[in-house]
Amino acid sequence: MKKTMTKDTMLAHLGRKVATENRIINTPVFHASTITHKTLESWENRNRDLYKDMAYGRYGTPTSFALQEAMAEIEGGDRALLYPSGMAAIAASILAFVNAGDHILVCDVVYAPTRKYCDGVLTKLGVETTYFAPGIGSGIAELIRPNTKLVYVESPGTHTFEIQDIPAIAEAAHKAGCVVLHDNTWATPLYFDSFNKGVDVSIHAATKYVVGHSDAMLGIVVTKNEHFAPLSAVTSAMGYCVAPDDAYLGLRGLRTMSVRLKQHHKNGLAVAEWLEKRPEVSRVLHPALPGNPHHALWKRDFTGASGLFGVVLKDVPKPALAAMIEGLDLFSIGASWGGYESLVTTCYPPRTVEAWNPEGPLLRLHIGLEDPADIIADLEAGFERMNKLKAAA
Ligand SMILES: *Cc1c(COP(=O)(O)O)cnc(C)c1O
Repeated sequence: MKKTMTKDTMLAHLGRKVATENRIINTPVFHASTITHKTLESWENRNRDLYKDMAYGRYGTPTSFALQEAMAEIEGGDRALLYPSGMAAIAASILAFVNAGDHILVCDVVYAPTRKYCDGVLTKLGVETTYFAPGIGSGIAELIRPNTKLVYVESPGTHTFEIQDIPAIAEAAHKAGCVVLHDNTWATPLYFDSFNKGVDVSIHAATKYVVGHSDAMLGIVVTKNEHFAPLSAVTSAMGYCVAPDDAYLGLRGLRTMSVRLKQHHKNGLAVAEWLEKRPEVSRVLHPALPGNPHHALWKRDFTGASGLFGVVLKDVPKPALAAMIEGLDLFSIGASWGGYESLVTTCYPPRTVEAWNPEGPLLRLHIGLEDPADIIADLEAGFERMNKLKAAA
């Protein structure tokens, strides 16, 4: 049965063993610090398989184990670990594979706090970071030094949505003995198959589409067995743990992730296509648009798109932009994404390899589960407000 389960079926059925045993549907929230043992032998062996066996509350309870098991299997990895945020998952994953004196390669379009971690914490620990252009592909080989331990990709890139050739990057990285980490938050395990594309460690800000309702912070990292030990060692030494209530929200979100993502894909693309035709728009940064420079790679490696993309407007005075955005009824201005509602932000992505000089303001849109016709009408009214102010200026 298991071998033939598709990801949709897995989403509905994995991680429910404890629930089924108790004749209910959802794995309950197990609150615990102390885990008791019936024998001395069990007590003295409690740390044999942390994050799988019941050892101590910090290492999880059946609620977190259920989410770990489900996520690992859906993504095609062996093990998963939970973190109090996506950023915590990133920090632990990188730290697990570096030592003082090492060098790492990180894509220039990485989530900005990840860059901050590399430039700040890693520099302090004596680990050097070199950033690479998102289009580097197998050319990454030229940047690999004898002390390079890790290659970090994030595809599509934060705010600018470049698709990276992960199979080519991974092939070169593996030849040089480097481990490949990927921030797979945008695509989720449903739309990018990390482990079949050469990734060794797949990182998720589960805060976004896994939780899916903008009401919890959560990180998940999925690995194969061979990379689990260093990750587990850092995770336990740093004392990372996740509240069972938040693990429960992650599990609950997983159940509907596939249907939500299908709708995000459809709605996002409909809005992106409409935006492309607007005179106020310079370009739409959405890899699923046929005219996008990253479309071919996206089509080759991804099986869907989520609801998050960028749009570069033609130059417009700030008050006119503010009038457009602040008057939107269906969009809130706010960070994070992956919930059921639409969001808009302005973005100023830091880039050090290839200059980012957009023609006008860069907006990031998260298209939620509302009717796309309503979203488009909201944006259209926004452009009218913008144009009115622009004409008056
Ligand atoms: C939001 C985000 C993160 C960080 O996740 P948090 O749960 O907010 O800490 C990491 N990577 C990407 C691509 C993100 O969008």
